[in-house]
Order: sequence, then C-alpha cells, then structure tokens
Amino acid sequence: MKDNEWTWSLTQHDVWQNDSFATIEAAIEAGVREAQEFGKSHFLVGRVQDAGLPVISAEDVLDQLGLQAYEEFGEAAEDYLTLGNIDDSEIQELEEKLNEVFAAWATKHGYLPTFCKIDNVEWVEVATLRHTPLVANATCRVCGCTDDLACPGGCYWVEQNLCSRCAEEMEMAAQGTKVI
Ligand SMILES: [Zn+2]
Ligand SMILES: [Zn+2]
Repeated sequence: MKDNEWTWSLTQHDVWQNDSFATIEAAIEAGVREAQEFGKSHFLVGRVQDAGLPVISAEDVLDQLGLQAYEEFGEAAEDYLTLGNIDDSEIQELEEKLNEVFAAWATKHGYLPTFCKIDNVEWVEVATLRHTPLVANATCRVCGCTDDLACPGGCYWVEQNLCSRCAEEMEMAAQGTKVI
C-alpha cells in the first residue's frame, strides 16, 4: 500500500491488506468486484497514510534519567533533570537530536514501519455506490448497537448514528403508513 492512495476492505475489524490505488474510484471498483464475489452488500474504502516513525519524547527520557539518578543517589539527586528547571528550547533541542539518531538507526537496520494507517474511511453500498462515513465509536440512535456489538445477523451504518437494520425498519414502517 502506498501513501495517499486508496484501498478497500470487506470487513471493519481485519487488518487492511488489499492493494491500493491512485484514485478512490479505482479502489471502489476493486471493492465492488470482491464484495459481489463474496455476496456482501457493503464494503469499506479509505485513504492510506504512512505511519511515520514513533516519536521519542525528550520529556519522557529526562523523567526516566532523573528517576534513575534518584533511585541510585537519593535525595542528593532529587532535583536532577527536573523538567521545570530545564528550558523548553533545550528540551526541544534534545528531542530533535534523539529523533534524528533514532531515524538514522531505524533506517540503517530496517526498522522503518511497514504498516500504515487508513483515514477517510467510508462504507460503500454496492448496489448504489452511496458512501457513508465510518464514525469511530458510533452508536445507533434507535437500537443502540455499536461497531463491536452489531445487530443479530449484522448491520452497517446508513447514517452516522443509524444502523441498517433500524433504517430498514423505519423505511418499512414509513411505507406501511403510506399504504394506509
Ligand atoms: Zn439500530
Ligand atoms: Zn444495528
């Protein structure tokens, strides 16, 4: 998968591992094909973002060193490397240097991330190609189902806080009233 390209997934909880494409349209095309093959009415598309290296926090490092000194030398080392006594600019200088060294080391020995993150995730409905953004920690406003606890038989998000089961029921109810 390449940075800023688009990819797709049939399910929400697995690792995204399909190919990525230059455009969202191409990713959707590939997703539709696979969804149809597996009889799925919906799938996810999202944009690939390089993970980047984790960042070393100079404050964490200084804390750790101060603690180490305190454990070994006790009271005498109590104020050593206390963050309040160090200029922000000095902390920042240390942080830049530490991260430079880490990046060079990770590059040299092959410890750059091979994973990435996916943002701009949306559900795509195969039949209509309609997109609905995937919302983190969404809860259905009608039945209260969530990503981790879907309705029996499964459901997906039709709106930010409305699952497909409830949307279907509402639609059926609405049609029912019309008939009367
Ligand atoms: Zn619901
Ligand atoms: Zn539901």
